[in-house]
Amino acid sequence: MNGLTITLKETRDVADGTRLFVFEKPQGYTFKAGQYVALEVPKPDGMDGMEIDPRGLTRSLSIASAPFESDLHFTMRKGESSFKQVCWKLIPGATVVITKAVGFFVLPAEEDTRPIVFVAGGIGITPVRSILKQAEHDKSTRNFTLLYANRFIKDVAFEEEMKNIAIPHFRHITVLSKSEDPCAPDNDERGYICTETIQKYIKDISGCLYYIVGSPQFSGAIEKILIDLGVPKEQRHMDPFTGLKAADTKK
Ligand SMILES: Cc1cc2nc3c(=O)[nH]c(=O)nc-3n(C[C@H](O)[C@H](O)[C@H](O)COP(=O)(O)OP(=O)(O)OC[C@H]3O[C@@H](n4cnc5c(N)ncnc54)[C@H](O)[C@@H]3O)c2cc1C
Repeated sequence: MNGLTITLKETRDVADGTRLFVFEKPQGYTFKAGQYVALEVPKPDGMDGMEIDPRGLTRSLSIASAPFESDLHFTMRKGESSFKQVCWKLIPGATVVITKAVGFFVLPAEEDTRPIVFVAGGIGITPVRSILKQAEHDKSTRNFTLLYANRFIKDVAFEEEMKNIAIPHFRHITVLSKSEDPCAPDNDERGYICTETIQKYIKDISGCLYYIVGSPQFSGAIEKILIDLGVPKEQRHMDPFTGLKAADTKK
């Protein structure tokens, strides 16, 4: 793969089976919050005996850091593939190769001031984190709502960080589909996101822009709810994480 070589600085586990990879950002590397890259890991020397599965050692990954931040962050759910096995063995100093950033899961032009509603499933939070951190940094006055779905609280990545985003008009709703823990008094839901969830939290349903991100199954389910609620295609931005199993997004 032609691309840029970047060096791993550190890794941190940010939820159950979910790891943040912090890389040095090459000088002059630019991207818009919400975009993604193709990332290729090398077959490490010590794994010569390992058979690489047919999916190979490259995956699409959203950049989880914001453009203003000094490093490049990627966050992944653990998996059985050769790619993930190599990733989980990466140590600081290791290098990977990335392409330039691409994708249209980005905020509209500033003149378009419509409120933004993110509906994210599991690891689908990665581009949302990038967008919200950049909006916080830019002192955005836009209205944002985040409905963030996971199975259990242990699966929720960046929980404290997302709850503490300092944007004046920002609401964060945690949705746990399998948890039997009691709900907090506000902004906390149990079960799957459904029509009633959207109606409860979004007062002007037809006046918002929706950003839907997660496994293809999750994205498809949310898209259907919005279509049934009469939200036109122009107001629905999709970022289906093709290749991600529904169980991985823990919707
Ligand atoms: C734009 C974009 C951004 C993404 N961002 C992230 C991210 O930030 N973090 C993250 O963890 N993942 C992200 N993904 C998903 C990522 O690329 C991997 O597919 C995912 O992490 C699973 O990888 P894996 O190696 O564990 O499993 P894989 O080896 O990729 O396989 C997982 C399952 O999907 C099936 N599958 C493989 N390819 C396809 C395909 N093309 N279509 C349908 N089914 C397929 C396989 O048969 C298998 O059952 C993103 C995907 C896209 C398209």
